[in-house]
Amino acid sequence: MITMNNTMSLSYGCKFVIDTLLKSGFEAYAVGGCVRDSLLGIVPKDYDVTTNALPQDIKRVFSSCKTVDTGIKHGTVSVIAGGEIIEVTSYRSDGKYLDCRRPESVSFGVSLDEDLMRRDFTVNAMAYSEKTGVVDPFGGRADIENKLIRCVGNPDKRFGEDALRILRALRFASVYGFSIENDTAKSIHRNKSLLKHIAAERIFSELTRLLCGSSAGDIILGFCDVFSVFIPQVEQCRELFLCGENHRQTLISHIARAVDAVYPKPELRLAMLLHDIAKPLCESTDENSKQCFSPHSKPSAVIAREILTSLKAPSRLIAQVEILVEYHDFKCKADEREIKRLMRKIGRQNTLLIFSEIRRADITAQNGADKEHRLEYINRCAEIAQRLIDENACVSLSGLAVNGGDIIALGVKEGRGVGKILDVLLNRVIDGTLENEKETLLKAVKNEYI
Ligand code: ATP
Ligand code: MG
Repeated sequence: MITMNNTMSLSYGCKFVIDTLLKSGFEAYAVGGCVRDSLLGIVPKDYDVTTNALPQDIKRVFSSCKTVDTGIKHGTVSVIAGGEIIEVTSYRSDGKYLDCRRPESVSFGVSLDEDLMRRDFTVNAMAYSEKTGVVDPFGGRADIENKLIRCVGNPDKRFGEDALRILRALRFASVYGFSIENDTAKSIHRNKSLLKHIAAERIFSELTRLLCGSSAGDIILGFCDVFSVFIPQVEQCRELFLCGENHRQTLISHIARAVDAVYPKPELRLAMLLHDIAKPLCESTDENSKQCFSPHSKPSAVIAREILTSLKAPSRLIAQVEILVEYHDFKCKADEREIKRLMRKIGRQNTLLIFSEIRRADITAQNGADKEHRLEYINRCAEIAQRLIDENACVSLSGLAVNGGDIIALGVKEGRGVGKILDVLLNRVIDGTLENEKETLLKAVKNEYI
């Protein structure tokens, strides 16, 4: 945290790197995210240093340390100091941008002010050294106090240079609970289609960080047109008004509330973002002209998979989100047997997540009068699921007290029949009609199959 007398505590490695560069006659400052986070009272997760030393100077000055040529073309050398990795970058100014993402060329040997000028937002364009205190040519400090994300310079030009900055702006606003300054916000709306030039993986990475922020819901509502660029279905979610008792709100408002209501982990936040994504396609009216919906969970799961695949999300994450979306409104009795059956189908942890997170968040984001009652019910299901996990209840073949070998040893012919017998045994154990105990299970097989 930067104190009243303008000092910031630097990590050991960062201080060492700055001091070493200064001793060798160069300028050096901590810069970017670490200064921003210190001003916010957050311990920085890493420290970057900016210097007038050129990459070859940096390598020479730190010849007794391990260095890595992280991005030598862009002037970045990583110095390993005291177990920390400090990214040291030469003051740099960026040439023309050609592809909405990367500068055609970069030039070194410019001033600190020019280096700060190429950075995206005022809150990220501050530097610090013990000698000079905070260097803040664009009013980043005031913007932090006013909780504002504002472009350095002309927003249209800056988003035109690098469209990823559009999502970085939304991500910083979501994570820190900031607003986006008016001109910057207008420019984001105007330039959103430039995101088409950005690699899917980069969009996905910013999207998940944005979704895990504390103000994700506000950002979804304020910038759904931007989301529509890479998730076209969002547009229809904005247009659909849910008239039913439990809602009386637009679908996008329900989605935004549901995202905020779930624990901030990527798979959970993505599941809530996409849980009702097919609902607009499932809308119709009944004979009394009342709005109604055909089952939308499975179609939403299918579309969620398509969207996440197009964003090149990791396949394990896609598989889990698909399950969470498909079962997001799974109805069952608060009863061990039914919950065990679900565990058999989708796994124990996913079952627990359906009750303790997904269904809870979905209901929390509704308006109906019996909301509390429904939440209580879901809570009971979550408690049962947790207890079954704690008791290590048998819900899969691997938990059964007998295996294929045991069945064959009884004289059953090797082959698919063995699997079928195990399946029947597991169902009966789950239903509570057979004890999961080796002798009991073998006896049942002998009686019925031998
Ligand atoms: P975090 O590491 O939490 O994402 P950060 O601000 O450290 O936040 P980095 O991506 O590590 O973000 O970038 C370090 C600094 O480089 C930023 O603070 C900013 O000054 C500058 N920067 C990063 N990406 C861009 C960009 N796309 N355009 C302009 N400047 C950028
Ligand atoms: Mg960083």
